[in-house]
Amino acid sequence: MADARQVYIGTDGGATTSKVAAVWADGSPVSTKLLQAPTPSSTGPDAVVASWVAAITTYLEQNGLAWQHVQGVGLSIPGPYLRYGVFGKSPNLPETFIGFDVYTAYANALAGRAARTVPLVVGNDGNFGGVAEAQRVRGAGRASVLMLAPGSGLGCAYVGPDGLPLEGDTLNGMEAAHLPAPLHLLGGIDPYPCGCGRTWGCVEMYTTLAGLPHLIARALQSRPDHELAKPSYAPRQRALALRGLAQKGDPLAIEVFDFQARALGLHVASLMMALDTDFVVIAGGLMDPEATTDAFRARYLTTIRETALPYLWPTQQQRLRIVPASLGDLSQAIGAALVALYQSMARPGVSDRTAS
Ligand SMILES: [Zn+2]
Repeated sequence: MADARQVYIGTDGGATTSKVAAVWADGSPVSTKLLQAPTPSSTGPDAVVASWVAAITTYLEQNGLAWQHVQGVGLSIPGPYLRYGVFGKSPNLPETFIGFDVYTAYANALAGRAARTVPLVVGNDGNFGGVAEAQRVRGAGRASVLMLAPGSGLGCAYVGPDGLPLEGDTLNGMEAAHLPAPLHLLGGIDPYPCGCGRTWGCVEMYTTLAGLPHLIARALQSRPDHELAKPSYAPRQRALALRGLAQKGDPLAIEVFDFQARALGLHVASLMMALDTDFVVIAGGLMDPEATTDAFRARYLTTIRETALPYLWPTQQQRLRIVPASLGDLSQAIGAALVALYQSMARPGVSDRTAS
């Protein structure tokens, strides 16, 4: 008899490392172990697509599965895009990827390997990461979820009751890192120019590594004897050293991270006015238990919460839960697999079969 196992594959197509994960038809992960393979970006986009198909084959073998079980594939890729499934100019990919229709190339490669059409969905890696974190926090419920991931920039995702991310009509939905910060509530700080080109004081500049050199220079004005004031430090080195100093209780480092957490808390409050979610997931390197102390993470999350709460409606104040992300490196591959699953459930005919 036919083997009824159904699996949905997620590929996280990072610039240097690609990852594969999968979920069953009920959304549970096939394995909590990722398959990771180097992305041969320098050899061109077709070689990258071929490497993804090979990685799926290896993943299937490792988990006692075969291509016949694959019901759909999702692909997480970094933006921006020219259109659905077509790379724009990404800071992390070689020029040969600009204008590459990764959707069509991957769909063809999957069909060639599986000897049939395999449904494929392509989406923003940050959004797909949000899909996976949202599934974790809301369980079987339908609560919506906002995810904010401060890192080198500020990743933002909104996941609705259907489990899918807000993408917008031009795939630029939820680029909330580039909304203006309420500078008057942040001590009247200057509007720092952002890498996106906007000069209105993008939130990203007050919450992430991108603006940290500015924030440190500002903090050093009142602490000129601090070790980071030494001229041997380049601005970027200062920014990278700050996280370690904060874990040791350095007052200047704590002051800067408190500022960033307040800025992020104000952003949570702004976004709640538009999105009204029960959950806010905070992701990114600061939430990595191997990179920061329990006390640091607790202080950061508490500051976000206490800053946001006064601006919310009473019902939101009661219901809002701000929680750290839990999936780490797994999230974007698992999210891609989940979106492939959700899309298959939404396709006419498939939902009719599974509903009975
Ligand atoms: Zn910006």
